[in-house]
Amino acid sequence: MNHNTGAILVLSGPSGAGKSTLLNEVINDVGECYFSISTTTRPMREGEVEGVHYYFVDEEEFKKDIEQEMFLEYAHVHGNYYGTSLKPVKKALKEGKLVIFDIDVQGNTVVTNRLGDITTSVFISPPTLSELKHRLQARQTDSKEVIDRRIDMAKREIQRISEYDFLIINDDLKTAADTLRSIAKAARLKIPGNEINDFTQMWEDI
Ligand code: 5GP
Repeated sequence: MNHNTGAILVLSGPSGAGKSTLLNEVINDVGECYFSISTTTRPMREGEVEGVHYYFVDEEEFKKDIEQEMFLEYAHVHGNYYGTSLKPVKKALKEGKLVIFDIDVQGNTVVTNRLGDITTSVFISPPTLSELKHRLQARQTDSKEVIDRRIDMAKREIQRISEYDFLIINDDLKTAADTLRSIAKAARLKIPGNEINDFTQMWEDI
């Protein structure tokens, strides 16, 4: 059966879990996809680029976008707003692409509630809490206060792994990338409810 509706792959996991590195490893092997670039009020980190990592806006602009219902979902994370713009996602889905989100657990809840029948969710975790601390400190992009906040948040997020379809423990990059590749391919094949109805109808008619 050929799907033309597109599909969604949600990736969540603590900052420092290695989501971006993993995604870069597999992005060229999963067919036509669109990585959703979120909008955030968080300050830009060294090495980040406007329109590549995020669209960076101030709180006033973000709140205006909320009022105008521009977001598929948004959340307040680590004291900053993050949101997924609806328009490019709709367009990519119409084009039959795999839409990939890097969003937190709150975002996953909203996306799964709104678009569950075409959504596959993956939680990516570092092997241990001490490894996470080590990675965040080695990154040298955040202050101690920010790192502590991210670790507290990670402890809370880990409690919600059961809300996801899959868990990838990012210990060995190659193994984790192989797993994500398989999941991404399967995510594309998820059958939306309307297509099941069309298929059963056609199957009986022939
Ligand atoms: P960071 O500041 O490290 O880039 O991201 C912090 C957290 O915000 C991560 O868990 C990331 O997945 C999440 N995040 C990034 N963009 C969005 C978004 O558009 N919506 C939601 N709900 N979370 C997001």
